[in-house]
Amino acid sequence: MAIQIKNLEQLKLMRRAGLLVGQTLELLRESIKPGMTTDALDAIAAANIKRGGGTSNFKGYHGFPATICVSINDEIVHGIPGPRVIKEGDVVSIDCGAIIEGWHGDAAFSIGIGPVNPEDQKLMDVCEESMWRGIAAGKNGAKLSDIGYAIEQYINSQGKYGILQEYGGHGIGTEMHQEPHVLNFGRAGHGPQIVPGLALAIEPMITRGSARTKVLADNWTVVAKDGSRGVHFENSYVICPDGAPFVLTAIDGGRMELGRLGIEISDLL
Ligand code: MG
Ligand code: MG
Repeated sequence: MAIQIKNLEQLKLMRRAGLLVGQTLELLRESIKPGMTTDALDAIAAANIKRGGGTSNFKGYHGFPATICVSINDEIVHGIPGPRVIKEGDVVSIDCGAIIEGWHGDAAFSIGIGPVNPEDQKLMDVCEESMWRGIAAGKNGAKLSDIGYAIEQYINSQGKYGILQEYGGHGIGTEMHQEPHVLNFGRAGHGPQIVPGLALAIEPMITRGSARTKVLADNWTVVAKDGSRGVHFENSYVICPDGAPFVLTAIDGGRMELGRLGIEISDLL
């Protein structure tokens, strides 16, 4: 399948889906407490997506049974919500998506519950910043692999982390997962050019140990093979027709975080 290029009208619909995802994740961030089950978080997300006029793109995706993915500690991505109770000191990664009028949004964050190990906090900070560095590098006219290069360079500059290789970012639009696949590592200057109308989900996944993973018997949950803690941050962004980026799943469109990196966001959305 070819890369899908969206016009401004289509991007406005994508922003509605992205904003609903961003608002749902914000609600989950405010709601998450020790003693809660991951099922309870899933119910909050489902209700908020419904209230916002959207539908879940995760539920039923290759048979996935829930609205969000909740992955705790050595679980990195694709954890299935259930009766598991969230505890103080846990590191919880939540991934959420929604569809509005056929257009998709997809984003994720990791959070420490109460006081967490400072090394776990640093793991989250490094992963989140690498996502912003990746989005900043994926500017109009850049090459696709400039994103993964920026993500990997930043992570490696901060310490010794495992960067997952089997999973990465992706194009997004009228399907959640579109071409191109976006690696979180690699050399700069390769792959398709980043052009206006290209929307990408950027999602680094890193561990405090090795990058090797395995999938649990539920056929979904991806865990670190060495049992180390893993985290995941994701945002969907687009290059607007004016050549400036806009982060579809960030409530402020990425104004603050990209501004900090010297990049002005588009005011078209
Ligand atoms: Mg996601
Ligand atoms: Mg994604």
